[in-house]
Amino acid sequence: MLVTGGAGFIGSHLCERLLQDGHEVLCLDNYFTGMKRNVAHLLSNPRFELVTHDVTQPILLEVDWIFNLACPASPIHYQYNPVKTTKVNVLGALNMLGLAKRVRARVMQASTSEVYGDPEVHPQKEEYWGSVNPIGIRSCYDEGKRVAETLFFDYLRQNNVDVKVVRIFNTYGPRMRPDDGRVVSNFITQALNNKPITIYGDGTQTRSFCYIDDLIEGMIRMMDYETGEQTRERNYTKPYLSGLPGPLNLGNPHEVSMRTMADMIVSISKSTSKVVFEDLPEDDPKRRCPDISKAENLLKWKPKVTLDEGLRKTIDYFSAVNR
Ligand code: NAD
Ligand code: UDP
Repeated sequence: MLVTGGAGFIGSHLCERLLQDGHEVLCLDNYFTGMKRNVAHLLSNPRFELVTHDVTQPILLEVDWIFNLACPASPIHYQYNPVKTTKVNVLGALNMLGLAKRVRARVMQASTSEVYGDPEVHPQKEEYWGSVNPIGIRSCYDEGKRVAETLFFDYLRQNNVDVKVVRIFNTYGPRMRPDDGRVVSNFITQALNNKPITIYGDGTQTRSFCYIDDLIEGMIRMMDYETGEQTRERNYTKPYLSGLPGPLNLGNPHEVSMRTMADMIVSISKSTSKVVFEDLPEDDPKRRCPDISKAENLLKWKPKVTLDEGLRKTIDYFSAVNR
């Protein structure tokens, strides 16, 4: 199993889960936002290997499954070098699809709810094509991820590559970077240090937050999904397809405003922080919530961890690294 971006937040949990399931795991990363520390506890496992590599460059490997996660995910990180962000999304997808084609691997793209942009349709279903600014400061990420999806479906149509596209909605949990600028890590770090909680805009904008363990379960179920007619036997004259390429929304449909999120984090962490209001970043989506009926029906998957439970676990992790 190859996990690109494997030393990042989601990638490290995925590597852990794949090892638990008995697989051999190659974790590929260039450590732009990921950290060796995230996978240090896996290094003693003989089925785990770390590869330092940038996905914008081709690589020759022998693998059965590829999870393509390499890409900075937080707005401050993907806007740091926006040209590179587009390259990671487009060249990274091309390189992983080329690899999948050569070795006949199944390949999953970690796409994002950002492909829906600032949505006019609520909640967002997979059939909705989105409302994305092509020239804004978020475009390197949003449009980069959209082109990656295009490439995945063209490789399916043109080369019968066994593709899987999941659209991940805001996910949180242990191993997020305290400094990555995303709302959960910002609010928790601020609350634990009794510093002001920075709400951008008036705090009425919403997001829907999925705990990491729930997301990983959904990704594995999607990768595992096969229609009843096919067997695991590979037939090299008729390439093997799993029957569910996606795109598939993975997220928690429980929608909250940023104001509510701030209040919950202050209360759970017993902080004395007060909220302050700062300017809303450009093109910040007003509402976001997944319609997950497809995942519920096809994968029998839905998130189990409540926001309160997930925040408690995440706050415990941040308190430990904050000491
Ligand atoms: P992250 O920043 O923790 O992880 C990204 C990883 O990719 C890091 O380890 C980073 O070093 C690595 N990386 C970046 N550029 C690379 C390159 N050129 N070559 C090799 N490795 C590179 O972010 P995350 O939250 O774990 O996100 C993982 C994936 O999931 C991303 O593709 C992201 O777009 C997607 N996603 C995440 C969320 C979320 O809420 N966390 C939501 C939607 C989509
Ligand atoms: N946000 C905020 N304060 C912060 C960081 C983020 O109010 O310190 C807001 C941000 O403007 C957005 C929401 O929280 O409306 C989620 O932001 P994040 O960067 O976590 O994810 P994304 O916007 O990509 O969904």
